[in-house]
Amino acid sequence: MRKTVTIADDLVLGGDTFVVMAGPCAVETRDLLFTVADAVAAAGAGMLRGGAFKPRTSPQSFQGLGAQGLAMLQEASRRTGLPVVTEVLDTRDVDLVADHCAMLQIGSRNMQNFALLREVGKLRKPVLLKRGAAATLDELLFAADYVLQGGNDQVVLCERGIRGFDPATRYVLDLAAVAVLKERTSLPVIVDPSHGTGRAALVPALARAALAVGADGLLVEVHAAPEQALCDGMQALRPSEFAALMADLRRLLPVLGRRLVRTSGRGHAVAHPGSGPVSDEVIAP
Ligand code: PEP
Ligand code: MN
Repeated sequence: MRKTVTIADDLVLGGDTFVVMAGPCAVETRDLLFTVADAVAAAGAGMLRGGAFKPRTSPQSFQGLGAQGLAMLQEASRRTGLPVVTEVLDTRDVDLVADHCAMLQIGSRNMQNFALLREVGKLRKPVLLKRGAAATLDELLFAADYVLQGGNDQVVLCERGIRGFDPATRYVLDLAAVAVLKERTSLPVIVDPSHGTGRAALVPALARAALAVGADGLLVEVHAAPEQALCDGMQALRPSEFAALMADLRRLLPVLGRRLVRTSGRGHAVAHPGSGPVSDEVIAP
């Protein structure tokens, strides 16, 4: 039986659903976040993504708005009804981030940060675990075990591309990984064609391919003005491009036996840090 991960009572990954998580790479300003959040919500996204803590290669690059960014994400969630997925980089920020989102993202650079994995394993809140850029699927599954062993069974895996030799794409999006992971684990698996290709023009084709190969959802970067983005502008879809992709997906989904899901916005499943069973408590938006 496939494992399901519950973001909200009517937003569940695993099974025949398909969840599109979309938004800017980073929270840059409140206005930009709201513009993108409104656009992706209107186009049918199921969740809003956006980084408040950004893992940047250079310490000189924009590092994210931190706690301020988290507050903006929460506002954008209330405004649109979209639950938020956002990255946590540091064990010291886990509770803060958890308080502001519906799902915590562990990024590729932290896939084997075992202290961080253990910390999110203590939560009763969904975790999106991204494959390290040089990690085998065994290593990804062992990393997931760190979270599961803490008692948090709400783990979604994400293929986001691995390092290759060809600069034609930023990473090599390993779509076979989805099929392999479906053999090896019952956890839901999603695909990130944005980081996986690094080029906006390639994102729609790889997003469609991800659906066809059996992914349970997508993580897609969208920006209102990609040329001005502080992070990952090259791979960001414009809102109109994202809407076109969603229209394509809507045509393909029934053929592949999937249904696009989003929450009615009436309530997000919330869970609290600490021990205890997975909560089914809901809060008003
Ligand atoms: C992201 O999703 O914004 C991100 C930083 O992704 P990754 O960890 O896959 O590089
Ligand atoms: Mn990014």
